[in-house]
Amino acid sequence: MATFNLIKGDITTMHVDAIVNAANTSLRGGGGVDGAIHRAAGPKLDEACRKLNGCPTGEAKVTLGFNLPAKYVIHTPGPVWHGGHNNESQLLKNSYVNSLKRAVENHCQTVAFPSISTGVYDFPLNQAAKIAIDAIESFNAELVATMVCFDSGTYSAYENELTERK
Ligand code: ADP
Repeated sequence: MATFNLIKGDITTMHVDAIVNAANTSLRGGGGVDGAIHRAAGPKLDEACRKLNGCPTGEAKVTLGFNLPAKYVIHTPGPVWHGGHNNESQLLKNSYVNSLKRAVENHCQTVAFPSISTGVYDFPLNQAAKIAIDAIESFNAELVATMVCFDSGTYSAYENELTERK
């Protein structure tokens, strides 16, 4: 089973096999963690993304990490929150599961995730934390997944969810 770890930090500094990018469906970079990853990886990341012709919500596509310490970037557009009746929960789960599938296909043993969809895409944080932890902990592969929280509110939401499970 995959192991879930929680830390506070900046995902662009992670020395792991792959980092996951909370991308948009164009894969052409944006704000938030997506912008930070593109800045840290350098312009070759955008060149590589351009060749992928976008990515549907909940799916995941892989590029190299270029100037990042991570070997790969797994790009997944999470769902935009529209109130919860547009399949948002399933799509968010799909983003985690499909990212983990890409990680396994590329022989990754260590993967770092940002809190997908809980920034500009406005997915409720506590609900997103449940979905993320469930998806990772029920994924059947020998890998370590680290949730890298950029701010203390996000970190607390995941920490509370982990405490509730004990
Ligand atoms: P989305 O559009 O999927 O909501 P965002 O990038 O707006 O994506 O936000 C997702 C999460 O990523 C938020 O919790 C945000 O604080 C966080 N984030 C932003 N920059 C970084 C970073 N460098 N490392 C890790 N997480 C980050």
